Amino acid sequence: MTGHVIVTGGGSGVGAEIAHAVARSGAAVTIMGRREGPLREQGLPFQTCDVTDAEAVGAAFAAARDAQGPITGVIANAGAAHSAPFHKLAAQDMADMMAVNVTGVFNVWQAALPDMKEAGKGRLIAIASTAGLKGYPYVAGYVAAKHGVVGLTRALGLELARTGITVNAICPGFIDTPLLARSVDNIVQSTGKTEDEARKILASASPQNRFVETGEVAAAAMYLLSDAAAAVNGHALSLSGGEV
Ligand code: NAP
Repeated sequence: MTGHVIVTGGGSGVGAEIAHAVARSGAAVTIMGRREGPLREQGLPFQTCDVTDAEAVGAAFAAARDAQGPITGVIANAGAAHSAPFHKLAAQDMADMMAVNVTGVFNVWQAALPDMKEAGKGRLIAIASTAGLKGYPYVAGYVAAKHGVVGLTRALGLELARTGITVNAICPGFIDTPLLARSVDNIVQSTGKTEDEARKILASASPQNRFVETGEVAAAAMYLLSDAAAAVNGHALSLSGGEV
């Protein structure tokens, strides 16, 4: 692949897997996240930034563009999940869920748009979740935010349909990453179940009774980034073994 792809949250989990797949394809990649340590560990070009801060995102994109050329693809992958029963969900927790999962996607897509409009082509991709397509208990803020990402994808896909730019969301079920490890810890603390029992409960959400592999998410992202996916637009692609 040619071009220059930005992957947010590229220092760990799904984002790191996608970033390495992009690099292996021959395209330039820049990973972004808040902590320098995990980004540096990937051995890929990086810029630190908080995706909730539009000014910081603008500066990071400008630096990435100066270093490796115009942006041709964005994987808006940075995200976080807060779990609590709804009556204990603080207003700040709700605002934090919207900030990282929705405004974060908005900020990075908007920062990439001028390069793509100028080129007459581009790929805007978000890593949403099955939580963008159906509900789950005890994660109302996360579910609301991921539904927001799918809505943003559908609206912007239509708005940009005649520009050569496509906009899509990938919606995986549970994946074994640091984010999942935090959810498992949370279940262990709040229910007294063992770690193994908690992991089995989460895996059983999939009809295939397993977690989605980070490599499966990366393969979907590589397809959506490719020229072959030019007709796929405004789409939310479920990777969930048939859960949704
Ligand atoms: P992860 O390893 O925790 O990755 C999240 C990444 O996002 C981290 O590298 C983190 O780095 C970065 N990040 C978080 N907040 C940020 C912010 N404000 N600004 C910039 N970067 C930020 O978890 P993951 O599972 O790979 O998650 C990746 C995406 O997949 C998320 O959007 C998640 O919702 C989605 N997803 C995960 C699952 C699952 O079961 N794991 C399922 C479906 C969808 P810093 O902390 O250094 O900023």
